[in-house]
Amino acid sequence: MSIRYGHLPTAGPSLNGPRLARRVVVLGASFIGLEVAAALRSRGIEVHVVAPDKQPLGRVLGPQMGDFIRTLHEKKGVVFHLEEIASSIDGNDVKLRDGDTLAADFVVAGIGVRPRTGLAETAELATDRGVLVNSFMETSMPGIFAAGDIARWPDPHTGDNIRVEHWVVAERQGQTAALNMLGKGEKFTAVPFFWSQHYDVRINYVGHAERWDEIVVEGDVAARDCLLRFKSGGRVLAAASISRDIENLMIEVAMEHGMAAS
Ligand SMILES: Cc1cc2nc3c(=O)[nH]c(=O)nc-3n(C[C@H](O)[C@H](O)[C@H](O)COP(=O)(O)OP(=O)(O)OC[C@H]3O[C@@H](n4cnc5c(N)ncnc54)[C@H](O)[C@@H]3O)c2cc1C
Repeated sequence: MSIRYGHLPTAGPSLNGPRLARRVVVLGASFIGLEVAAALRSRGIEVHVVAPDKQPLGRVLGPQMGDFIRTLHEKKGVVFHLEEIASSIDGNDVKLRDGDTLAADFVVAGIGVRPRTGLAETAELATDRGVLVNSFMETSMPGIFAAGDIARWPDPHTGDNIRVEHWVVAERQGQTAALNMLGKGEKFTAVPFFWSQHYDVRINYVGHAERWDEIVVEGDVAARDCLLRFKSGGRVLAAASISRDIENLMIEVAMEHGMAAS
């Protein structure tokens, strides 16, 4: 059976001026989609989130934090359509794969980005889902540097070549690249970190874990007082916390000093 959620008047300016949006469909249940959802719910707008994931943020933060985030947003009135994708958008209608239709005044797509490496490939720089750089942010072509979202660098903390999309990483990599253009010979060793705000809850994340074999939970996620360590082979690759800023900073410092954070 296919269901149609909501009926909206035709989009466009009303006699009293521009029509205010009442309902939005957010595509994607990761950081951008959910921060947008929180901001819109705070403004009283009805929000439907459509995403292929089993849990919001589960791929990055694991099932414990994923469950918490889902409950948090649902309590604020967000309606999730998980393990689902949009198959088409036609005017005010977002059609889902299962046949349901969601009415929306506007749609926000927070479905991730893919680096455009065409220019680098034309210049014959080595690429791998980004532009490959060494620890000095120099590409395979001496004298050409890359930094920020486009760069995949050898991360000393995980031992992997990683690419991250965080503001502070981009800034710091730019600084390192600039110093190395001036011949300073400085390695990029900073530990990635970011935070994500959902209503009155802030999640702090430090490190980088694309995969893990264990999540050690300290405290109580539902009580908004927790520290989660993402471990692989007994090593902490990353940590996520709520209301535990000091512990989070201590893990960052340990990682920066090349100590295996425990
Ligand atoms: C909606 C959104 C929310 C985000 N929120 C957060 C957040 O809360 N915290 C966080 O840490 N990060 C966040 N990020 C990620 C953060 O914005 C990026 O990591 C950061 O902007 C990367 O900086 P950058 O300089 O590498 O790339 P960009 O900021 O994308 O800058 C690239 C620049 O290069 C220009 N450009 C592209 N191609 C060419 C070309 N051929 N020639 C010349 N110029 C070119 C572009 O026009 C652009 O000006 C967010 C990103 C988005 C999209």
